[in-house]
Amino acid sequence: MRERYEFEGKRFLVLGLAKSGYAAADLLHSLGADVVVNDSSPETGSKEVTALREKGITVICGGHPENILDKGFDTIVKNPGIPYHNPVLKQAVQKGIPIWTEVELSYLISEAPIIAITGSNGKTTTTTLLYHILNIGGKQPLIAGNIGTVACTVAQNAKPDEVIVMEVSSFQLAGTESFRPKIAVWTNLYDAHLDYHGTSEEYALAKAKVTDNQTEEDFFIYNADQHEMLPYIERSAAMKIPFSLQGKKAEGISADDEMIYWQGEPFVKRSIIKLLGQHNLENILAATASAILMDCDKETIENVLSSFTGVRHRMQFVKELKGRTFYNDSKATNTLATKSALSSFQSPVVLIAGGLDRGHSFEELRPYMGRVKAVLALGETAERLVDFAATCGVPLAVKVRSMEEAVQEAYGVSVEGDQILLSPACASWDQYPNFEERGDAFIEAVIKL
Ligand code: ADP
Repeated sequence: MRERYEFEGKRFLVLGLAKSGYAAADLLHSLGADVVVNDSSPETGSKEVTALREKGITVICGGHPENILDKGFDTIVKNPGIPYHNPVLKQAVQKGIPIWTEVELSYLISEAPIIAITGSNGKTTTTTLLYHILNIGGKQPLIAGNIGTVACTVAQNAKPDEVIVMEVSSFQLAGTESFRPKIAVWTNLYDAHLDYHGTSEEYALAKAKVTDNQTEEDFFIYNADQHEMLPYIERSAAMKIPFSLQGKKAEGISADDEMIYWQGEPFVKRSIIKLLGQHNLENILAATASAILMDCDKETIENVLSSFTGVRHRMQFVKELKGRTFYNDSKATNTLATKSALSSFQSPVVLIAGGLDRGHSFEELRPYMGRVKAVLALGETAERLVDFAATCGVPLAVKVRSMEEAVQEAYGVSVEGDQILLSPACASWDQYPNFEERGDAFIEAVIKL
């Protein structure tokens, strides 16, 4: 662990006691900082709180005391989910107290270089794929962030010859100051989380922080096909590595229908790739470019690309049964993700969709509904989805009561060569605790078939 920043005797307020708050408080305490933890939830007597108290850390639960900042904190480390309109954070901004997330902390202490992956969509897929390539290539990667272990815990134990592959959200990046990854990846930019960031501009600026501290010794891999990103790309001082699906390009990494090109030279044939979908091809380009920059050889990259079938619940190949192929894309909790999923298929699709009703429109899916031969609609949006499918001319659209019924019906109306896809375009909370359980219910129903 590196100690580039002097923590000894500094006063830290850790706001929010989820997994990341606990890890940050524990780490700061071990570095000699004076730590207070504050969480708005009532005291539950959890093991974590007891453990922190036993170390001498003050833990205040059940609300934010109005005068908490009077204790004179040098820095706040907040849980990424806490919005900036939280009263303590508003006061902190007025007082000029720096507000970090534990991602900043990870960077300050890590002895290993960091590859940071951000974007509105594709973070987990790109992070996981890159992790696999680096692992097979013997580069000793450690996975951190939203997936895997809390970043500062990984960073604490990371060695200089290892490399941290870190998925970072806009919430996490917003709380960084000096964070400087060796390789930064920005997959794409869509309007998201406006309730948190306020405006699209603020959201994009938070994402752009992934490259803000990079220098010409670092690399910045970005989506060159998304012109909205260009103003933010221009700010980067790093060596720029664009990725593009618009045919062979002399710079960066690109793809046409046949081939992936690295700096304009043929690199890998697309026919070896298992992962479906144009959106996943973007993720593949970003991960491949990162792996090349990490000196992974072509054979290793080819090996992984020819075996990687996706991350669980994200266009995950489940099974082939009597010529029908089942895909689990339960993570598709909005229409944009389902649009990407539908655009992956040329052959007829039987779509299982629907879930929590946020009043959002399905209109964005219309251009892709031509390839859908049937819709099995679940959850609160079932009726709206059936009506929408009818206006798109889908031959069969019916409401179903359970995932099991959906899968059985889907199989019943399908023929050889069809794709059966769970891609709900809605959140899962009307029927399941989370999208993972929804995806598992789909997989179970398929296995039962
Ligand atoms: P994230 O971690 O950013 O949420 P995931 O890799 O988990 O992204 O993918 C979430 C969903 O977003 C997937 O189900 C897929 O439908 C869609 N998706 C993945 N990659 C992309 C991409 N590069 N562009 C657009 N949509 C994507």
